[in-house]
Amino acid sequence: MFRTRKILIFSTLVAIAGVGVLFVAVAALLWQESITSEEAYAGGLAASLGQSTERLIVDTRDMLDAFDTLPYARCSKEHLKALEEAAISRPYIRAIGYWQADDRLCGVGFLAQGVLKPAHADRIYDSGVIAWWPSPQTQVGDVQLFLMRHGDHDVAIDPRMLLGSTPMKDRQAALWVENLRLSAIPWDATLPAPSTLPIGVSVDREHGQVISRYSRNAILPIDIVAREPLDNFLTRHAQMLAIGTGLGLLLLLAWIHLMTRISRNRLSMTSELREALAAGHIWVQYQPVVDLASRRCIGMEALARWKRTDGDAVSPSVFIPVAEDGGFIHEVTRAVMRIVVRDLQRILVEFPEMSVNINLGEGDLKNDATGRELTATLALARLPAGSVKLEITERALLNTEVSRSLIRNLRSMGHQVAVDDFGTGYSSLSYLQSFELDLLKIDKTFVDAIGTKAATSHVVTHVIEMARSLNLATVAEGVETPAQRDWLIEHGVLFGQGYLFSKPLSIEHLLAYLRHDTPRDPDTPAFEAAFDRDNTAHATTTHAR
Ligand code: C2E
Ligand code: MG
Ligand code: MG
Repeated sequence: MFRTRKILIFSTLVAIAGVGVLFVAVAALLWQESITSEEAYAGGLAASLGQSTERLIVDTRDMLDAFDTLPYARCSKEHLKALEEAAISRPYIRAIGYWQADDRLCGVGFLAQGVLKPAHADRIYDSGVIAWWPSPQTQVGDVQLFLMRHGDHDVAIDPRMLLGSTPMKDRQAALWVENLRLSAIPWDATLPAPSTLPIGVSVDREHGQVISRYSRNAILPIDIVAREPLDNFLTRHAQMLAIGTGLGLLLLLAWIHLMTRISRNRLSMTSELREALAAGHIWVQYQPVVDLASRRCIGMEALARWKRTDGDAVSPSVFIPVAEDGGFIHEVTRAVMRIVVRDLQRILVEFPEMSVNINLGEGDLKNDATGRELTATLALARLPAGSVKLEITERALLNTEVSRSLIRNLRSMGHQVAVDDFGTGYSSLSYLQSFELDLLKIDKTFVDAIGTKAATSHVVTHVIEMARSLNLATVAEGVETPAQRDWLIEHGVLFGQGYLFSKPLSIEHLLAYLRHDTPRDPDTPAFEAAFDRDNTAHATTTHAR
């Protein structure tokens, strides 16, 4: 019971840890993804603003060039109309002027005529562009314009429009020409000067921001600096995190529910099994062990049986572990032992050479109480020790050094000892040699593999070889087909147990079986009828193997 509870607590902790690890892994993944997309977006922002500004400047320069080839007299109505059409289609243009040498002779625009009279240009670039920075000399109303001349025409640009006019939530950007800030979104954005930044994207985790710089010098040397917050991870992925947490919690609850049910079932099975033992509701069936060649019965194995109060038969592969877990396997063994000794009295009267194998649990190997009790019970019934053999699973052998001396004791009392489920415990030849054993029972899984392409089919010959080198009499478990029997005989296995010869039988049917035990066909109707009676009398046991 204690172990069951420990398993429950342990597995719940494992479940919590599992869900936790899953959750952290998903969050880390999202975080990583969030940073990558954030960086890509921010880098893209400066670049895309820069590219569109540059397109605008190139377009403006081309437009100015085109004015110089207009076939109209300068300052004529047609000339000015052409300039006006060009200005209307470009919202950032406030005015277009025509120059002759250093004089701005005429122009169009949304400014009062003659208002714009720029004096000295600030720069003449290799591209032939002449620029006037926004300054008081280019101021019209409340805006200082940026003037750009190429050939005989110039254009007055509202620098506020150069970055586009769409407001950008939580994002700032600014445009520089040389070291002069021409435009920004929002207008009062506080951004570092481009000269202080590397070109490209820099992530400033300390302030939770991404800053990017785009820089080109095609017609004018422009720089764009953009800044945006590294979005709050929690806000951005809140929905996903909420769903994840919810799912995780649900999983956890389902797990705890399942574990509680299993453990409750196990706990109730534990107390029910204890009651069944006390009330003498555990009984035994015997499965004959035969000489494979002659089919003659040479002994039998006692197998514990239990039917729950609700009528369900429980397989020993289920209730034996429950008794082991609950620490009372010894009581099961004792119950089986008593029944076997009682039945042996009947068996030996008619078949004095027979013996019965009793299975020992791992718990029986912790001390010699079972051995002593067996000796006492047999003595009381005046039965020879040789009439009871003991089966110990290979896995149980692996557990303790104590079992070595216990086996020695049992043998010295006159019992033969068999290693059960041989081949499933992966013990080495030398390890098995260190035990004093008499019999070896090859596990059913290997017998099942005979004649198939299963991986274990190769192992079965190896297992038989191992048995042979241990110099032990060998019994094959779970023989179901004549082909398996023939194969086993061919490979030197002398004894077998399995449905091919007989299913486990009640004592009455066992005696009937033994009385008719001459080489015979198990498929005869009389034989089948005996099984049917046995199996309906005790309901069908759910076999785990
Ligand atoms: P085991 O000792 O290896 O017993 C053989 C199992 O194989 C039995 O299952 C038997 O009914 C089944 N079997 C035999 N021949 C065939 C066959 O041809 N085909 C198939 N499908 N199965 C076959 P059972 O009775 O369900 O017992 C299962 C296991 O429970 C046993 O394996 C043994 O380890 C354990 N057990 C049974 N009774 C006791 C007991 O009194 N004490 C202890 N400690 N363990 C027991
Ligand atoms: Mg056994
Ligand atoms: Mg076995």
